[in-house]
Amino acid sequence: MSKVDSLPRWDLSNVYPSLESDQFRMAIESLKRQIGELEDYCVQNSIGQSGIGLLESSRLKEIVDGYITRMNPLLRLFSTVNAFITSFVTTDSYNASAKHLESELEMIEVQIKKIDVRFQGWLRNTGSLLPNILISPGPSKEHSFYLKETLEQSRYLMSEPEESLAAELELSGGNAWSKLQGTICSQLSVDFELNGKRENLPITAILNLSHHADPDVRHRAYAAELSAWKTVREPLAAALNGVKGDVVTLSRRRGRSDPLHTSLDQARIDRETLTTLISTMQDSFPSFRRYLRAKAKRLGYNALPWWELFAPVGRAHNDYSWIETREFIVEQFASFSDRLARLAERSFQQKWIDAEPRDGKRGGAFCMEVPAVQESRILCNFDGSLDSVSTVAHELGHAYHNECQVHKTILQTQTPMTLAETASIFCETIVSDAVLAKASSKEERLAILETSLMSSTQVIVDITSRFMFEKEVFEKRERSELSADEFCEIMIRSQKNAYGDGLDETYLHEYMWTWKPHYYSTTLSFYNFPYAFGLLFGLGLYAIYKKQGASFIADYESLLASTGEETPAELASRFAIDIKTPDFWRESLKLIEERIDQYVAL
Ligand SMILES: [Zn+2]
Repeated sequence: MSKVDSLPRWDLSNVYPSLESDQFRMAIESLKRQIGELEDYCVQNSIGQSGIGLLESSRLKEIVDGYITRMNPLLRLFSTVNAFITSFVTTDSYNASAKHLESELEMIEVQIKKIDVRFQGWLRNTGSLLPNILISPGPSKEHSFYLKETLEQSRYLMSEPEESLAAELELSGGNAWSKLQGTICSQLSVDFELNGKRENLPITAILNLSHHADPDVRHRAYAAELSAWKTVREPLAAALNGVKGDVVTLSRRRGRSDPLHTSLDQARIDRETLTTLISTMQDSFPSFRRYLRAKAKRLGYNALPWWELFAPVGRAHNDYSWIETREFIVEQFASFSDRLARLAERSFQQKWIDAEPRDGKRGGAFCMEVPAVQESRILCNFDGSLDSVSTVAHELGHAYHNECQVHKTILQTQTPMTLAETASIFCETIVSDAVLAKASSKEERLAILETSLMSSTQVIVDITSRFMFEKEVFEKRERSELSADEFCEIMIRSQKNAYGDGLDETYLHEYMWTWKPHYYSTTLSFYNFPYAFGLLFGLGLYAIYKKQGASFIADYESLLASTGEETPAELASRFAIDIKTPDFWRESLKLIEERIDQYVAL
């Protein structure tokens, strides 16, 4: 693959010269010092759960203003240092000193968390005074949304010593289980015959074979994968029980009605909205099943077995060079706005993107903000496929979202997962629409539609199965631990419910719970429905843009700038969208259904 040879690696030397440099060491020292100073500030002003007593509004405003103006730069520095360390850890898993620094930073983060909890507990006691300080200009007023949300969420806090202990134990409790899952999955390998050669392949390479062109390879990879998961299911079931048990205990102790309650608050939507979203998605399942049955028919099955979910169909242009990708994306983005095109051009030019797959680099893709230099960095594993071109567009969407927020503080830009995917899905759609419009042959159109539907099926249908799985696991975990068999049973039941007659019921995937890292996070439970929300919200906005044209852009950029300062419902209402009713979700799903119709017709 000569084209892959010239793929770029990212450059963060404008942030700090290296992990060993004085500048970086000084940044860590400065971070620790700022934390110490903020701790002192809290003590001096009696910020703690017992504190507050009789305070005048003006004095309260003064203390809160002081807290905000100290916390923002601290978080900015933390997030910059974190991004810098992450840039090494994620591209070179053999870098022991980077891993060491990562762990050191996790402990620093616990200190910040403790200050935050302390502030939250203190704010709870201000009760009726808070609205008074949000009127006159100043940092408090500029952070109204953050303060109101903090006050609202402070109802679900344990006592300060309990929260402090929970934060420290997290590293050796839930977080340790989650790391164990990561380690087991990254070290699991399988003997597999590929191209006539028997090799020992990492499980991630086996998972990638689900996209392989040869049906026999896909089938054998599926079988090999399932038997590999079987060998590690006991430690993974223990890890999952540990993580979920941790969440159940803490959410009960914090007075939450259930673990979903926390996730809904994090997503900033209510239960009613989620129920509407899920049931509207379920209404669209017959269409997705129609797509899966059409795919089965084309591949020569009565019903599609699990290992064919990612089988390629049609013939796509699958050897995009990096230069072509860059030109194509910038050109398509320019059709939307100059600002977006310029941002993309800058990302390519100034080495914001690490595209080269290599040993020791993590899989997948992500985008991170580097606040100190007001830039972003993107990691992906580019292989020249249409899918990886669209991944680059997706991640650039995140960078664009960051760019729309550069003039805001960190506490003003705490974006929930439900809105975090708005710009990325939007940018991905700009590119996939363009690719589809340019396709010249039937086979190419088919391949493009397949790539798009494959991923929508994951986000709408598979995500629903994951949501159902997690919901049931939490309900059962409240009473007792679950066995590996029980996890498998719940998984199969959830998949049957979601996929219905779209898949062959005899070949589902009982071990999906073993390797999806999302199930193993103690801080982000139900890390599934926000993806569906994000996809449908991004698509819905795209449809509005198509109708409205250029006049849409200013409002859209202002929405992106405000994702940390208004709820999704409030932001949506700017575009006359009501996310509490099925209509909006139905319209977005219709866009996917149109693609299904085109696919089936071909
Ligand atoms: Zn994304």
